[in-house]
Amino acid sequence: MQQEWINWSGSIRFTPKSIETPENEEMLVDLVRQAVAFKRNLRVVGSSHSCSQVFKTDDILVSLEKFADIESYDATAGTATVNAGMKLHDISQALLKVGLAMENIGDVDYQAIAPAIGTGTHGAGKHLTNLSGQVIGLRMVTGTGEIVECSLEQNPELLRAARVSMGTLGIFTAVKLRLLPAYKLHRQEWCTHIDDCLANLDWLMEENRNFAFYWYPRRDEARIRIWNLPGQGSTDLSFARLDKEWSGWSGEVLPTPQELRYDESEYSLPVEVAPECFKKVRQRVKEKHRQMVGWRILYRPIARDDAYLSNAYERDIVAITLHQNAALPHWEYFTDIESIFQAYDGRPHWGKKHTLKAKDLRSLYPMWNRFQEIRQRLDPNGIFLTRYLRELLVGE
Ligand SMILES: Cc1cc2nc3c(=O)[nH]c(=O)nc-3n(C[C@H](O)[C@H](O)[C@H](O)COP(=O)(O)OP(=O)(O)OC[C@H]3O[C@@H](n4cnc5c(N)ncnc54)[C@H](O)[C@@H]3O)c2cc1C
Repeated sequence: MQQEWINWSGSIRFTPKSIETPENEEMLVDLVRQAVAFKRNLRVVGSSHSCSQVFKTDDILVSLEKFADIESYDATAGTATVNAGMKLHDISQALLKVGLAMENIGDVDYQAIAPAIGTGTHGAGKHLTNLSGQVIGLRMVTGTGEIVECSLEQNPELLRAARVSMGTLGIFTAVKLRLLPAYKLHRQEWCTHIDDCLANLDWLMEENRNFAFYWYPRRDEARIRIWNLPGQGSTDLSFARLDKEWSGWSGEVLPTPQELRYDESEYSLPVEVAPECFKKVRQRVKEKHRQMVGWRILYRPIARDDAYLSNAYERDIVAITLHQNAALPHWEYFTDIESIFQAYDGRPHWGKKHTLKAKDLRSLYPMWNRFQEIRQRLDPNGIFLTRYLRELLVGE
């Protein structure tokens, strides 16, 4: 019997013809080769936390939930090779046991590692890259069913193209990560008026290892979150009220459990224009959306990287994220604010809601055409493309 698939927020629903959970690479290769032979479409899914249609298919849906172990690690070199379906939370726990930790993760740790990398998922920290920037090698099954490896040393261009590719070059089966020795962080959450937060933004971002703020439109208040190595950072915010603080291993202290469901739209802007862009967003929300939108807006700096379709490709960025309660309408709000993001050359988060298509995206990514050449070479039959992805990447 066919089974409906629903994403975390509930806004993406579809019924694939079949759901496959291969146990190893050979079975995955077989699935891909059959899809080519019978001209089928195949999409791979992780934890379904994306609210864009990146994994939606009405044909074959593949889950790598059985690819969920640390394949190998080298504590001295500070690296580990991790199976693509392993959840971030499980990775943090497993690495801690061997004295290692990821450099950074995002707001939650429910995602699987390959899709988190492949959509450009990031945390917060001016000097820290998104997760794809921590990848130093990977193995994948391409659209012709070949197993291909790339790394900083072996075919580095393929690594730059593949890291952020939403499963359109191939299905990752393992990724090699650059890691840190296990470390503890001290986390603080401060409350203040948004104007005070904005007035102190530059040094807050510069002097704290991890920094983010939430703006709450109804109260015009900011909740500032900072994370630092013990004894480091600027942890006395005279203009704000300390609400809570605690310390622990990085994998425990960086994420925040999310109980309420929401949909999201997010754009990344060059760091230089982000404060001005945020001020315009704030003004528009106050003028037009405050009645309906009581939810927070999130502001996070991220360091540049070199993955071709990364939100931070060759530019330091700030990601501004709109959240809306999953039970409430979101399109009018998201699309209205999107026009402000676009005026600042914003790049959308691949796993969140946006309306851009290939014609709009091409000019935002200097290596767009090169990425498409590589995608066509690795998936010549387009088995990983759906209508949504064709419009997004090809422009048909
Ligand atoms: C509560 C919540 C909090 C979030 N916090 C953040 C945050 O802090 N920062 C941020 O940047 N984003 C954040 N996101 C977005 C989220 O990180 C991304 O959408 C991420 O891709 C979701 O991971 P997933 O495992 O659910 O992948 P899915 O949504 O299931 O899949 C995402 C994409 O990855 C592809 N994929 C899946 N497996 C593979 C594979 N093995 N090889 C290649 N491609 C594959 C899929 O085809 C799809 O295109 C958040 C989302 C939610 C719902």
